[in-house]
Amino acid sequence: EMTAESHVFEADVARLLHMMVHSVYSDKDVFLRELISNAADACEKLRYEAIAQPGLLANDPDSRILLTLDADGGKLVVEDNGIGMSRDEMIEALGTIARSGTRAFMERIEANKQGEGAQLIGQFGVGFYSCFMVADRVDVISRRAGAEDAWLWSSDGKGGYSIAPVDVSEAPARGTRITLHLMEDAKSYASRWSVERIVKEQSGHVPVPIKIAEKPGEEATQLTDGTALWTKSKSDITAEEYTDFYRGVSGQYDEPALTVHFRAEGRHEYSALAFVPGSQPFDLFDPDRKGRMKLYVKRVFITDEAELLPRYLRFVRGLVDTSDLPLNVSREMIQESPILTAIRKGVTNRIITAIEKQAESDHDAFLKIWENFGSLIKEGIYEDFERRSQLLALSRFRTTTSGDGYRSLADYIRDGKEGQQSIYYLVGGSLEQLKASPQLEGFRARGIEVLLLTDSVDSFWVTNAPEFEGKSFKSITQGSADLAQFKRQDEDKPEGESAPAEVQAFLDYAKQKLADEVSDVRASDRLIESAVCLVASEQGYDRQLEKILQGAGR
Ligand code: ADP
Ligand code: MG
Repeated sequence: EMTAESHVFEADVARLLHMMVHSVYSDKDVFLRELISNAADACEKLRYEAIAQPGLLANDPDSRILLTLDADGGKLVVEDNGIGMSRDEMIEALGTIARSGTRAFMERIEANKQGEGAQLIGQFGVGFYSCFMVADRVDVISRRAGAEDAWLWSSDGKGGYSIAPVDVSEAPARGTRITLHLMEDAKSYASRWSVERIVKEQSGHVPVPIKIAEKPGEEATQLTDGTALWTKSKSDITAEEYTDFYRGVSGQYDEPALTVHFRAEGRHEYSALAFVPGSQPFDLFDPDRKGRMKLYVKRVFITDEAELLPRYLRFVRGLVDTSDLPLNVSREMIQESPILTAIRKGVTNRIITAIEKQAESDHDAFLKIWENFGSLIKEGIYEDFERRSQLLALSRFRTTTSGDGYRSLADYIRDGKEGQQSIYYLVGGSLEQLKASPQLEGFRARGIEVLLLTDSVDSFWVTNAPEFEGKSFKSITQGSADLAQFKRQDEDKPEGESAPAEVQAFLDYAKQKLADEVSDVRASDRLIESAVCLVASEQGYDRQLEKILQGAGR
């Protein structure tokens, strides 16, 4: 006797499903890409587990994804011979949302009316649920590799789902079969023309071959061959193929801003294919967010947690495939491996060099990268000591003379005043606020450029990057500004004379009155129109950093 148990969806799943069904996303096609990507992941997991347990492959060693159309029945079936799911795995994977940051994700799709939601689905890892955009019932039959039992999960995507054991004769020998009962306005997803187009457009480079059968029981023909794109030579790959692959690994639907593809030979042998996304992934500043570079060994997917790049390059998506590690490398061993350390260094260098080249060859394209990811790259200035000056040289800034453009430190130094030993900066919350600061008056009057720094990382790297090409970084709110040596542009009056007697008398008076509040009161060259401003001492923290530290309760 086989009975079905009923379960209700976790609240977040119910909310997500409601949104998916009731918002009109322009692009429902994404559901197929998500199902295919899950099927391919399942095949990769099986290949990985089979390294230790070859018996899991039984007599069916080759991965495959099969799409079966049923136009008469209004159904589309997506089947794989991957790892499959046990009963408990199904309940966990298809009834809850494991990822952190669910709330933020949902708020963002709820707020968005332009269909961005559909694009976020893949990035966020809630891809499976997107099948309810086109189906009013979904049946998932799965049999885990090596298991004696098989299970049917079934849902209309409303309140919950049922789960029941099924006879193994009704299940795939291994893996998962997902049957979509298509909605009235989604019947075209049972037509060969549509499905073939979507697969070629969105999933052409999934590393598992995809086949299609036009009717249940009919013989299948091959749609894609499952060749790993990165193993082909660059000259045989078109821009569209790279874009398609990028969309697969990133879950984003835009164009990559930069593609880095190379094969390293010699001491270490590996291929790398990495992309700088064309727009910001939404969870870039999620502290839990790991890098998204996948590690393959001889084309077998091993892990996406190998930290193949330094943290500050966590916006880069892609993979590294090496033949230098044994297939049975444990995930724990990976972090310690000197081979991986070498690969990490090699890939990091290539990516940074590619960004540098972009800055030279296509400055506008580079600025887009900078606007999206510059604040992360600046984290590297204090995290990556070895590449500090390289990253400083790559950085671009708003300054008192940049207008709407950006300035590099090389620009700054080239246009500096004679004898200027410092790179002056001002840190704050917004450009408008900084531009209005009285601290800038003396610098403006003397035509001295000041970097206007508004990213939250700025306070940290400026205090950690003592110099660039022999010039030190100096906060204009800190200590004496040494402005007297530079001539004001608006008058001929000689400067740098000590304060006249009556000013000195006032300073003494103010200092005595404010003895408990400030450590010194000085006449200053930094002000032109304002009467007074507060500065931090030479040794202390910069004023902005001081505020941040206070905010953090220190
Ligand atoms: P993600 O793929 O980012 O984890 P999804 O919503 O697409 O998120 O899938 C949720 C989970 O469901 C997967 O992580 C996996 O555990 C499970 N799953 C979905 N499809 C399959 C499948 N075809 N075979 C095995 N497991 C699957
Ligand atoms: Mg998925």
